[in-house]
Amino acid sequence: MIACLGRIVQDTDADSIPDDDVSTLSESLDLQGTIESGGITGVAGKDFGGLYSVKPLALIKPSGTEDIARVVNAASRTSHLTVAARGNGHSINGQAMADGGFVIDMRSTEENHFKPLTIDGSHYIDVSGGALWEDVLKRCVSMFRLAPRSWTDYLSLTVGGTLSNAGVSGQAFRFGPQTSNVTELEVVTGKGEITVCSETQNSELFFGALGGLGQLGIITRARVKLQRAPDMVRWIRVVYTEFEEFTRDAEFLVTQEEGESFDYVEGFVFSNSDDPINGWPSVPLDPDHEFNPAYIPQTAGSVLYCLEVALHYRNSDRPSTVDTAVSRLLERLGSIQRLKFQLNVSYVEFLLRVKQGEEHAKANGNWDSPHPWLNIFISKSSIVDFDRTVFRKMLKDGIGGPMLIYPLLRSKWDSRTSVVLPEGEIFYIVALLRFVPKGPTVEKLVAQNHEIIQWCNKEGLDFKLYLPHYQSKEDWKRHFGNQWTRFVERKTSFDPMAILAPGQKIFKRTHIIKP
Ligand code: FAD
Repeated sequence: MIACLGRIVQDTDADSIPDDDVSTLSESLDLQGTIESGGITGVAGKDFGGLYSVKPLALIKPSGTEDIARVVNAASRTSHLTVAARGNGHSINGQAMADGGFVIDMRSTEENHFKPLTIDGSHYIDVSGGALWEDVLKRCVSMFRLAPRSWTDYLSLTVGGTLSNAGVSGQAFRFGPQTSNVTELEVVTGKGEITVCSETQNSELFFGALGGLGQLGIITRARVKLQRAPDMVRWIRVVYTEFEEFTRDAEFLVTQEEGESFDYVEGFVFSNSDDPINGWPSVPLDPDHEFNPAYIPQTAGSVLYCLEVALHYRNSDRPSTVDTAVSRLLERLGSIQRLKFQLNVSYVEFLLRVKQGEEHAKANGNWDSPHPWLNIFISKSSIVDFDRTVFRKMLKDGIGGPMLIYPLLRSKWDSRTSVVLPEGEIFYIVALLRFVPKGPTVEKLVAQNHEIIQWCNKEGLDFKLYLPHYQSKEDWKRHFGNQWTRFVERKTSFDPMAILAPGQKIFKRTHIIKP
């Protein structure tokens, strides 16, 4: 092994390592899983963003945690090799890539854990860091009628991938992000150690890895909190002309107690036009629903706002009971009365709602085109300014995809994790989910994202990027703010040579010669 790695150390150019070296490497690593040359396998050098591509040395398909530890240990014996866990590669800016390093395909471990537990009367499931949330959902519901409490909108994402960021959707106002809904992790640190951690055991690693952008360790198992799964969901969209009314109602709903509000609250901005992607047709939930623009007041501006909510119920609930509960909640809202869209769907169907969009986008080629997305957390104190300048002026004609906006509560996020948030109890997630054809427009849209961030900085808005992407250490320092020192200390403890997640471009690989 040492001889083989020695050769790689001298040979810093991954291109010049022939394939038979990879097979030698495979033997010397003594993996149960498999290893493929980075040159042959394209997948490890790409991601959903389609904006970056790099060539890894090799793609490793580990059979389990021990394989992952072996790879990290092997990299640590060299002066330059890095290791990136790749969940499902749904990052936008190359975060799961390793230029000239090892990429670990976490999906190959997805079947490794699936164990239900009951602790002090509460239900949990142990799942692999490489499991897709959609599989966790389907298996938990069909086998136990239980389900995780906090989701992302789209579920073909891995458990380890979203826990390394936060994992946010319309349930987060009540239960917090996914990082607030796990109680134990198994992690392979950058020192190649396999460590189980929780709030009470190795807690620095536990909280550090949650939202830690893959910097402290590779999550190989997570213990996820479960609740009883509802059978059905009433899914509703209502429309506003005024941003202040939209935010007032959204904030009202997210600050009510359970039972006094909906179970899911999101929203989006759309253009006041008949554009099929960006305008009125993007609102109805069903082809049978008609969006009648005659109901929009004459005073409406260039953009409108849609509040999207959902109420859980059981098959045993009478339709009239559900109707009454929904009407009671809707009548407190100031939306346009006649622009209201409702649909009853199964709970699983509701959670898999974006899958349909994926199939549609795949069919028309948009799924594989570049995605210059921008995700920002913006404080309530800054959101009106953001709306006035960004939504109503810069993006008034839409972005060729959804422009999500909905409020979250800081008190539902654990400040001990590595996630970075703006100040203030109520903040909004704004997600500009652009779907654009390949071509020169992509660069323009990346530039527009920069322009938006620069404008936020210039105006002194209270905001933080979600799924952040920066090139310089100075920018990362600014991003972490007063949490930078703690993050650096955690990095030094758990990945002192900066082997892990090089695609985040936060720390430079170093080499510490072991005595
Ligand atoms: P990857 O992109 O493969 O990896 C992301 C980062 O995490 C990389 O740095 C990687 O090295 C690291 N990593 C991956 N696995 C592990 C692991 N096991 N242990 C440690 N580090 C690891 N996010 C939301 O919060 N809410 C949403 O509703 C939402 N919807 C989305 C919809 C779509 C269509 C897409 C493309 C993305 C969406 N996201 C959403 C963003 C998503 O959460 C992130 O892109 C996430 O990183 C993707 O997960 P992944 O499994 O593909 O991770």
